Amino acid sequence: MPRTKTGRHHLFIPGPTNVPEPVLNALHVSSEDMRSADFPQLTLPLFKDLKKIFKTTKGNVFVFPGSGTGAWESAITNTMSPGEKVLIFRFGQFSLLWADMFKRLGLDVDVRDVPWGTGTPAEKIEKILKKDKNHKYKVVCVTQNETATGVSSDVAAVRKAMNAAKHPAMLFVDGVSSIASIDFRMDQWGVDCAISGSQKGFMLPAGLAILAASPKALKAHKKAQLKRCFYSWEDMLATNASGYFPYTPPTPMLRGLRVSIDMLLDEGLENVFARHHRIAEGVRQAVKEGWGLKLCAKGPKWESDTVSAIIVPKSADARKVIATAYGKYNLALGAGLNILAGKVFRIGHLGDLNELQAAAAITGAEMAMIDSGIKVKPGSGVAAASKYWLKNMKAPKKARK
Ligand SMILES: *Cc1c(COP(=O)(O)O)cnc(C)c1O
Repeated sequence: MPRTKTGRHHLFIPGPTNVPEPVLNALHVSSEDMRSADFPQLTLPLFKDLKKIFKTTKGNVFVFPGSGTGAWESAITNTMSPGEKVLIFRFGQFSLLWADMFKRLGLDVDVRDVPWGTGTPAEKIEKILKKDKNHKYKVVCVTQNETATGVSSDVAAVRKAMNAAKHPAMLFVDGVSSIASIDFRMDQWGVDCAISGSQKGFMLPAGLAILAASPKALKAHKKAQLKRCFYSWEDMLATNASGYFPYTPPTPMLRGLRVSIDMLLDEGLENVFARHHRIAEGVRQAVKEGWGLKLCAKGPKWESDTVSAIIVPKSADARKVIATAYGKYNLALGAGLNILAGKVFRIGHLGDLNELQAAAAITGAEMAMIDSGIKVKPGSGVAAASKYWLKNMKAPKKARK
């Protein structure tokens, strides 16, 4: 436990994220009858409004007990048959784990490694698909936001590449750390399976696997031969239609989700995205201008608005920074995963967050770095961030109501 227990704990890992007070209050409810006559009054509007978050009118949303990993499994097992071919680029711990899941579920995975710090290269996808005359690839995967490296990929560009190659593969997008925080347009981008979970942009505890399927994915589902049971779509589709579930849903989580969706829609999705961008840019200014350090993301086009992975000088150990931040300043930072262990620490800046909260994380990370022997100037991070925020804080555009 952190040494400094008074005051707030500063949670700056890229998920689970802070649960805002209205959601916390909504979660604090008695158990209820999920087969009652009025239960669909909660669930049917919830399914409808979830579609607004995914920006789909044609697709179907699914809410399973589980997490983002469960949503991966649900998407794969409900749309694919054993041995079918998948194209995925690997550039961080999450794209790595996703590729691994395809393998473990018996698919023929074409994994292409690109440097960690970059993302899905749309131009390469076009070339690969153009060569695939017999349409062997059934699915192309994009990790929209690689949480391990703080890298965002351009999903619209991948769709464009797939169209340019006139390839019929489905497009799967892992949006676990981007949906509800970074722009995502399921219908417009022709995304067939969009994958998320409750504990990142949705500002809830972990516990729900949230995903959306396009009409094309629902059609593929009818022929898909992979085994599935708990995460099966057919049972969900049959019961969700009237507002019920095939088994006991976590009802407090659904009450919490109702409030989190209301908060997102009340703020307005475009305002939510703008806020994430502004906070992220402040953090990036702190890293580059203030501290003179580098991000793992290799250039602005890859930079993520939900998480920054900060490379510490070679002589330092990022694990020490993280342990000091936690033990001394009550600040939880994200660790470097896999080959990045010790080399980076991550600041998660997504969910229920504002600029001054981010300023606290910048200050805490800065002090922990100085404690760990990294030469950065006290106050330099916040100085750079606030300089940016002073110029860029705008009243949000009018949203719902
Ligand atoms: C967090 C995360 C996951 C895994 O989700 P869980 O909810 O931990 O199962 C998958 N992909 C990305 C991009 C993530 O950020």
